[in-house]
Amino acid sequence: MAEEIIRVENLKKWFPVRLGFFESIIARRPLFVRAVDGITFDIKKKEIFGLIGESGSGKTTTGRMIVRLIRPTGGKIFFHNREITRLPEKEFKPIRKKMQIIFQDPYESLNPKMTIYDIMAEPLRVQQVGNEDEIAERVYKALEDVELIPPEEFIHRYPHELSGGQRQRVATGRALVLQPEFIVADEPVSMLDVSIRAEILNLMFDLMERYGVSFLYITHDIALARHICERIAVMYLGKIMEKGNTEDIIYEPLHPYTKALMMAVPSPDPTAKRIEVVIKGEIPSPVNPPSGCRFHTRCQEYLGDICRREEPPLIHVGKGHYVACHRYSEKKK
Ligand code: SF4
Repeated sequence: MAEEIIRVENLKKWFPVRLGFFESIIARRPLFVRAVDGITFDIKKKEIFGLIGESGSGKTTTGRMIVRLIRPTGGKIFFHNREITRLPEKEFKPIRKKMQIIFQDPYESLNPKMTIYDIMAEPLRVQQVGNEDEIAERVYKALEDVELIPPEEFIHRYPHELSGGQRQRVATGRALVLQPEFIVADEPVSMLDVSIRAEILNLMFDLMERYGVSFLYITHDIALARHICERIAVMYLGKIMEKGNTEDIIYEPLHPYTKALMMAVPSPDPTAKRIEVVIKGEIPSPVNPPSGCRFHTRCQEYLGDICRREEPPLIHVGKGHYVACHRYSEKKK
């Protein structure tokens, strides 16, 4: 069994809703957006773990909590089996170097007034890693690793002088320059042309193989995740609905939500018969999520009262495959 690098246990993030004077009288109690509402998963060393879901499912909030861009409301985060959830900043500083994040929009995450060299060197300077010669060496190496070759051709340029794919390579190189063990990649290819997506995904895969970096790969695109993730978890309204080996979930999805997501993926075989599974309606508000099973207002396999009243536990159905649906918890009884 591969060594675990990250584990989150019952992780929660509730954002308080700001209410006006009259709204707070009507509401009578503080309201919260339950962005992440008690999720548990682990990521192994040298693994790309996928977190899949629609916008508003809580996947981005989860990634940001792990790298401590935001603090959790509850639950625990472990790094190499050491709990880091509430570590004081001073003790967390050396761990911060080992965990990096790549954002969806490289244009927004790269300072337009800085050259590529300074953008890449900045994390090293902030973390006081080496002198200027050592910094230069690391910057050149990271540019080569992300295939911006020769580095001399790129170091004096500004982000607006690069293509979208090159900017995402710079963002990846910037994450790599501190030689992290773990990277959160938050929709890293969703803003790129289809032709460039494969190149960036191959690059991530290559970095995982070469340096043993582990990734949390966040995406709304289950079809993309199937190509690079060994295991995935499917999130809906702040909860995990299904998790397990990617192949098992893709070829035999159990949760009605996962089935619907899979049916939205175009088949390469135009003659293949498909059963239409439609997700009806909009994703409900995370301020007031549906009672019982959170998916019950949109579920095609709704079982009645039990789905409306009782929250289904995430149960193990074999081979590391977990599902949160009364169809399976009832069978287990
Ligand atoms: Fe559908 Fe009920 Fe399963 Fe929820 S618990 S996914 S509502 S069948």
